[in-house]
Amino acid sequence: MEGCAVRLDRRDFLRSCGGCLAAVAASGLAAPARAQARLSGADIPDHEAMFWDPAESQRVQCQLCPRKCRVDDLERGYCGVRENKGGKYVTRVWGAACAVNVDPIEKKPFFHFLPGSNAFSLATAGCNVDCAFCQNWEISQTRPEQVDVYSLPPRDAAASAAQSRARTVAFTYSEPVVFYEYMYDTALAAREKGLRAVMVSNGYIQEKPLVQLCGALDAIKVDLKSFREKYYKEVCSGELAPVLDSLKLIHAQGKWLEIVYLMVPTLNDGEAEIAELCDWVARELGPDVPLHFTRFHPMYRLTRLPSTPVASLERALELGRKAGLHFVYLGNVPGHPSESTRCPSCGAVVVRRVGYTVLEVALKSGSCKACGKPVAGVWT
Ligand code: SF4
Repeated sequence: MEGCAVRLDRRDFLRSCGGCLAAVAASGLAAPARAQARLSGADIPDHEAMFWDPAESQRVQCQLCPRKCRVDDLERGYCGVRENKGGKYVTRVWGAACAVNVDPIEKKPFFHFLPGSNAFSLATAGCNVDCAFCQNWEISQTRPEQVDVYSLPPRDAAASAAQSRARTVAFTYSEPVVFYEYMYDTALAAREKGLRAVMVSNGYIQEKPLVQLCGALDAIKVDLKSFREKYYKEVCSGELAPVLDSLKLIHAQGKWLEIVYLMVPTLNDGEAEIAELCDWVARELGPDVPLHFTRFHPMYRLTRLPSTPVASLERALELGRKAGLHFVYLGNVPGHPSESTRCPSCGAVVVRRVGYTVLEVALKSGSCKACGKPVAGVWT
């Protein structure tokens, strides 16, 4: 799972938007300067939410994620960022960023999407699940009024991303599904600037919004928390089945997809579960969808468990390969040989990595330089 390095303070935020602010000075444009504005809770503007229906007695029915919250007037849904105001549903996080960083795309992780490039990464407060191991709980399990929030509307975010020389805007750290409207508008603004857009998500979203979102995004990474409903319910307050549906839908929409599985000792690292997961990915999504098994470290409410033994991760790697998957990686084990990408046809290393650093890309027009066979991914 990807960590958000900072809970943004004002200095960090201005540094992240520095290129943008330099552009303001040169061009006199007013819009990016708004990135400086720190918002208090009362100043965060309402923005009409997408995907909801009116219900009886001024209630609203949210149709964004599988929770389908029914929300009374002046109340919010589970995620804490969508509010019913007099029978109209609004989002409280449109243009209200609480974390902004420029990260290597490998940190998301995307290993088959523009390797060696940077992603202008942003988040707002809120999440629609509550994982006991969350690395970013300080922003995900809170409301926008409870964290430092800065105004960064979509066009300003896209301008800042272009100034930072990132090739991609990444929606990440907390759960982008809950800031759907902000993500969607920013992805379209980024496209106008010639940038790509990617989402790092739990995949807990309904079908209709996901299909529309796929039209605005170039790639999606899904954190698959477990292959058991019990774990989803008890450890994450979520559900497995809708996430599996999302994975199939993203793949069917032709979006580049990578999957991360955080292996938590004793809770989701059983050999039978891992084998079933690998077989499912091979059968339903095909062998070219990368699967990253990531090392857990004690965090948030799960501090009683040890870090994942590397031997367990290596066993998962074997099971993935045995299932026929072409690209299985280990995460949070810097220097492990599985960090590099090998050509599934001839075995040559086509992307050599150490940690988040790409040392070599041996691909020509998306094909292995050694044998000439195509390697699945978005390489240029
Ligand atoms: S997006 Fe938020 S408000 Fe809507 S159903 Fe999901 S948790 Fe509830």
